[in-house]
Amino acid sequence: MAGEHILIVEDERAVARGLEYGLSQEGFTVAWAGTAKQALELTRTHPPHLFLLDVRLPDQSGFDLCRQLRAEGKRQPILMLTARDEEVDRVLGLELGADDYVVKPFSLRELLSRIRALLRRAYGDLAEPAPSSKLSFGEVEIDWERLLVSRRGQVVDLTPIEFRLLRVLTTHPERPFSREALIEAVWGYDGSIGSDRTVDVHIRHLRAKLEETPATPRWLVTVRGVGYKFEP
Ligand code: CA
Repeated sequence: MAGEHILIVEDERAVARGLEYGLSQEGFTVAWAGTAKQALELTRTHPPHLFLLDVRLPDQSGFDLCRQLRAEGKRQPILMLTARDEEVDRVLGLELGADDYVVKPFSLRELLSRIRALLRRAYGDLAEPAPSSKLSFGEVEIDWERLLVSRRGQVVDLTPIEFRLLRVLTTHPERPFSREALIEAVWGYDGSIGSDRTVDVHIRHLRAKLEETPATPRWLVTVRGVGYKFEP
């Protein structure tokens, strides 16, 4: 529905698979790490909007990983997956920096409602579904429910970052966004990942994929001294 990126850190493959399937059915993009080490690597290369952290991991505990992410300045929401009451006590009792927890076994429905609440809290209206389910401009049509972008009837292959960037801009037509605001909206609060230049590169890719004449864009326009906006 929303296209946010979620990192599942869970060593039990079957559980991770189930979550991955359930979350992607809801329109989230999902990555999976089986160890804390892998989770840290993935966080650097592809920072998520939200972490799902299992407490029991093979190389270190989910508690330690949570603390470490916060110590590294990661501010995205963290939802802990706990198995027993004493783990819940630790989540609540320690200053881990986790935002919420669910106790296994949990239903996908319960998990989704927690995830949505955390995303809303962290990213405000930018995490809300688009007001109408379809948008078209020029030769482009966007189907928000199916997460599909097409041009002249052909599906356009967008990366999750490009998709999210497009969504932020087009759901706020005419509103100029600074590169900094786009970084925060698209990459989450981890500002260290995106630089102004990163935004420019992704905008260029989007223009190449969607604009009739990318060199003189009609829809995704530059606002001098500010950044970018969508001109409907
Ligand atoms: Ca586990």
